[in-house]
Amino acid sequence: MKTKNTFFLVIILLTSACSASDKSSDSVEEKTPIASIVLPTETPIPLTKTPAPVPTAIPLERAQYGIYATLDYAGKKVEVEESILYPNKSTETLSDILLAVEPNLWANGFLLHELSVDSVPINYSLEGQRMHIPLNEPFEPNKNIEIKLRYTLNLPFAEQGDPSLVRARIYGYTDRQVNLTNWYPFVVPRKDSVWQLPNPWYFGEHFIYDAADYDVHFSVNDETVVVAASAKAETTAQGWAYQLKSARAFVLSASPDYKVLSQEVGDVTVYSYYYLLFDIPAQEVLNVSVKALQLYEQIYGEYSHKSLTAVQGDFNDGMEYSGFYFQSNGFYNTYDGTAQNYLTFVSAHEVAHQWFFESVANDQANEPWLDEMLATYSERLYYETYHPEALNWWWQARMFDYSPNAWLDLAVSENPSERAYWSSSYFHGAHFLEELRTRIGDEAFFAFLYDYHLELTEKIATGDDFFRILREHTDVDFSDITVRYFRAAR
Ligand SMILES: [Zn+2]
Repeated sequence: MKTKNTFFLVIILLTSACSASDKSSDSVEEKTPIASIVLPTETPIPLTKTPAPVPTAIPLERAQYGIYATLDYAGKKVEVEESILYPNKSTETLSDILLAVEPNLWANGFLLHELSVDSVPINYSLEGQRMHIPLNEPFEPNKNIEIKLRYTLNLPFAEQGDPSLVRARIYGYTDRQVNLTNWYPFVVPRKDSVWQLPNPWYFGEHFIYDAADYDVHFSVNDETVVVAASAKAETTAQGWAYQLKSARAFVLSASPDYKVLSQEVGDVTVYSYYYLLFDIPAQEVLNVSVKALQLYEQIYGEYSHKSLTAVQGDFNDGMEYSGFYFQSNGFYNTYDGTAQNYLTFVSAHEVAHQWFFESVANDQANEPWLDEMLATYSERLYYETYHPEALNWWWQARMFDYSPNAWLDLAVSENPSERAYWSSSYFHGAHFLEELRTRIGDEAFFAFLYDYHLELTEKIATGDDFFRILREHTDVDFSDITVRYFRAAR
């Protein structure tokens, strides 16, 4: 697991730990075209011109991504025109920009045809996931620049290896699914005068995301293909259009085999996309998503988007994105109709990431405990509220293989194995929050969580933020707890 063999890294880098893996399932061969939205043409759709966000002298609040993408479903290619209107929100004049380009981690995975900054073609270097663009002109604070790219994505086959050795792969295609995750180049956050782009590790996530606005136009050259996305779709002449404000990672998933269930929760639509014969577990995913959304809105604050989409992954892992999560295929297979299931608590977990990952982001490589601890403890709150009779079961089943003898505040890459990573960031985190809650009391504990979310919405939280806001809510001494969990002085 420690080799830095490139091929091995490519196999596992796109996966991450949001759930314990499960055994593989038999695939369902039967296909039912679900033409919920019929495209007007069966021929490949010519790429239309990128909608140029109108450059403005007024500094933008957030970066704006305008993306026109056409998926060749059978050919496993995506043609993309992308415009990034990026504001310099720092106090320094910038001389370069760094973009993350994850598809370039596959050979021929990313073919760049055009790149310009403010309509002028520009030189760049592209090495692994790092696209470095030295700017021709000084980029002053509170000014915007427009980066335009045109490229082809050659999607890799998302080969699923032995789950005990390698993590599930999500980006790319399987026999019955195309998943576009971290598929477009994006400007990474800047902190302390340094662009923030950690290297991928064998497990866990590694990206850090600024909040940005998305205007995505997507089409597929196969009218039987159903598309799930990070936002509600509007049907256009050529496909679908999506608008998503203040989000971290816009995701699309396409399959000719998807069925979909949905339910309205206030002004939010919750979707559960799934494969034939999985109606019952798909209904549980929908039910848990609805109930978790309602619960977390009460505890943490308002959900930030108008849709929440769960998709049955064609792989055994759960993963969160903006307004969207994949649920492990294996958990659909093992669902037994009760609440005492991985399907149930991992769904509650992934929904919680819409507050901690999406609304309040964090450095997933170096402080993964911030979102994973809170997402895991949210499972506890879900059971406490809806299935108190199963709470003890959850502590036992969820904390399987829990080893308390590790620091909670480890970077992903400091863990010797994925299991150890789950144990330190997820399980140890849940135990820490349980002890903290018992010590300071429910009133202070929940007021803290609410304010933590409120104050850091659209921002990238740090461990320092966590403890600063916590101490604003209690005078109770909890230092004897933190010294047992945290390597850093807290
Ligand atoms: Zn997670």
